[in-house]
Amino acid sequence: MTTRSLTQIIESIATADGAGVKLRRSLGSQRGVHVDPFLMLDEFYSDDADDYLAGFPAHPHRGFETVTYMLDGHMRHEDHMGNRGDLGPGDVQWMTAARGIIHSEMPQQSEGRMRGFQLWLNLPSQEKMKPAAYRDIAAREIPVVKLAGGGEVKVIAGAPLLEGVSTAGPVNGGGAQLSTDPLYLDVRLPAGAVFSAPIIAGHNAFLYLYEGSATVGPEGVAKPLPHRAAGVLSDGDDVRVQADASGVRFLVLAAKPLREPVVQYGPFVMNTREEIEQAVADFRSGRLASAA
Ligand code: FE
Repeated sequence: MTTRSLTQIIESIATADGAGVKLRRSLGSQRGVHVDPFLMLDEFYSDDADDYLAGFPAHPHRGFETVTYMLDGHMRHEDHMGNRGDLGPGDVQWMTAARGIIHSEMPQQSEGRMRGFQLWLNLPSQEKMKPAAYRDIAAREIPVVKLAGGGEVKVIAGAPLLEGVSTAGPVNGGGAQLSTDPLYLDVRLPAGAVFSAPIIAGHNAFLYLYEGSATVGPEGVAKPLPHRAAGVLSDGDDVRVQADASGVRFLVLAAKPLREPVVQYGPFVMNTREEIEQAVADFRSGRLASAA
């Protein structure tokens, strides 16, 4: 058994997206800064409505999946297919844009805290032009595993072995598997507690620490994971995180790498320039999301 260690820190950068939503971007903050197949990770967190009220008015996506996980606040999404949903605290929207989707993501509050994450997960070339689909996952559908040493783990995707039991998340927990085989955990540890879980060897993995502080890696040689930064892990069989005196909250993301060329132009992520040009042309002519 090899415990994974920190190999790279991707600091988050303050930026704005949509119609002016302030956020912190780690993966995706610069060209080529990603952890295959994860393309981007945004954390939005503000108590000031001016930072989020403008939301994300209608915009397209093609070629990948977006995963929105709310911690606080309400966001309503609507798409060109007539789907709509309201994401509240603890809810997840797992949207497979694939061939194309045009949607809006708008805050449903004018005061209070808005906090959550949006992750972009790439699709393999042969799935980039399949029909769009999405799932709204209510907080109650997400299993919470209590850790013997204190703390808890929410299993959003994957079926990790936790406390000796395999716990299936609502996405990729069994049955139909996404080909990137993602693992998505939200972990909370009290002061001094240790979290350890297997991660499939050969899968790329990173952590994102959003509250408190912790060290990561094998006992004795663990390294600190900076606040609001993505910590990329070496290959290995498991991950080990120990909370500092403040306790810690962090995300664990892992998936099978695609090892394919990534050509991105804004909300379109394809394998070649020609496919990007096609996406732009399809969007301009109103055919982005229509059947082939
Ligand atoms: Fe979007």
